[in-house]
Amino acid sequence: MAYQTVNPYTNELVKEYPNATDQQLEEALKTGQNLYEEFKKQPVKERGEILHNIASKIREKADELARACTIDMGKLLTESQGEVELCAVIADWFADHGEEMLKPEEIETTATGTAEIQHHATGVLMMVEPWNFPYYQIMRVFAPNFMVGNPMILKHASNTPTSAQMMADIILEAGAPKGSLTNMFLTYDQVTAAIEDPRVQGAALTGSERGGEAVASAAGKSLKKTTMELGGMDPFVVLDDADMDDVADIAWRSRLYNTGQECTSSKRFIVMADVYDEFVERLKENFSKVKAGDPLDPNTTLAPMNTKKAKEDLQKQVDEAVKAGAKVVYGNEPIDLPGQFFMPTILTNVDRDNPAYTTEMFGPIGVVYKVSTEQEAIELANDSSYGLGGVVFAGDSEHGAEVASQIETGMVFVNNFRYSLPELPFGGVKRSGYGREMSRLGQMAFVNEKLIVKADKPDMNNLAGGLVASSNPK
Ligand code: NAP
Repeated sequence: MAYQTVNPYTNELVKEYPNATDQQLEEALKTGQNLYEEFKKQPVKERGEILHNIASKIREKADELARACTIDMGKLLTESQGEVELCAVIADWFADHGEEMLKPEEIETTATGTAEIQHHATGVLMMVEPWNFPYYQIMRVFAPNFMVGNPMILKHASNTPTSAQMMADIILEAGAPKGSLTNMFLTYDQVTAAIEDPRVQGAALTGSERGGEAVASAAGKSLKKTTMELGGMDPFVVLDDADMDDVADIAWRSRLYNTGQECTSSKRFIVMADVYDEFVERLKENFSKVKAGDPLDPNTTLAPMNTKKAKEDLQKQVDEAVKAGAKVVYGNEPIDLPGQFFMPTILTNVDRDNPAYTTEMFGPIGVVYKVSTEQEAIELANDSSYGLGGVVFAGDSEHGAEVASQIETGMVFVNNFRYSLPELPFGGVKRSGYGREMSRLGQMAFVNEKLIVKADKPDMNNLAGGLVASSNPK
């Protein structure tokens, strides 16, 4: 597997990185294990200070980081800048709140003495991350696990090696000890070997179901815990009393952000019949306004896709959808630029037996469905093997929230753009994965929730409700 930065705007091979050797993996595991032992002796507060330094270093190097991300995978420079700042925000949040979240929690109990849950590190983690948010995906796992004291080995996507290495270098430069995050250019077999290694205690993956299945199976075989952040076909439900100016403003952004290459991108627009025509017309209008060009140029509003292969795969999916009866309302025409551009496209008339009904399209393709009732909207939203996120637009936000709570996904935003913040849990259900990143839930993902029950002396009248007393020899 070649780790390469190929600029998707110019198609130029910018840099190639050699694969890691087995010897280097062994050294990384050893360093990680030693650091785990060191971290046990270090107060959490000290790591919080380092994490704040990491946030400062990220901000200091924001321009460099943003440029590298855009050259690696093509996103608009403004979006790269936003992603870099979000990483600093996440690092600061876990630095500020991690210590408090990791404090022991007392449990009310009828046991003699006191009972508490302590939150301990578990050991080295394997982190496997995708290219679509090269920094943010790292930080979602790194910040909470650094606070608790789990050292991490990172296998990033093969097309974003420069971003991966830059983030790992910044973390070191900011004062994190060696082994806190070791970025390695690993093969799939080496990832499996690392997961099977007894020094590794868990694996976190963000990516496709294919990648998720491979990593979860390897982890399952050796009984290691995993979190899986996988694909999505998120619904964007428009009720007939929604404010259509807001809907129009948000809908195109929610599909074209990151050139549609986002797990929580709004891939299915489910619109009530009364407002359907207006919705399609305004989506078309907004899709037609974007300007393809150099993603480093601030005037560009449509970036290329991340690789030639991604563009070709998407074209195949659109062709198949059309062959199966989908109607192209807008787009699906070539863009006359050398980069990997895909024209924003709107599809309608997608029936249940069309592959586009069930398969995630990871690019700027909006599929629009017309529904006659709210119940139909909910049923359509739930008729998916995925369950990641979603958006509901309604005249009344309370009512929107009632609809949102019936949608089988991990996150739904009412009357707004969907976004990610460190205090909000991120993750899904069904084939979108399991576990949560960010927030208190993400902080606890790879923590040993250790029970300590403490008494001065045994109480012979209160031995677990008498069960132990009666079964014990006198
Ligand atoms: P992918 O192919 O699964 O790649 C993700 C990562 O997994 C990469 O580092 C990849 O390495 C690695 N990988 C893949 N197969 C592997 C295996 N058998 N063993 C070890 N590592 C393996 O995913 P993608 O298609 O690039 O990313 C897009 C997908 O990610 C979409 O489905 C999207 O919805 C999902 N996603 C989910 C979230 C979320 O939070 N739920 C966020 C972003 C993206 P290589 O690059 O070397 O193949």
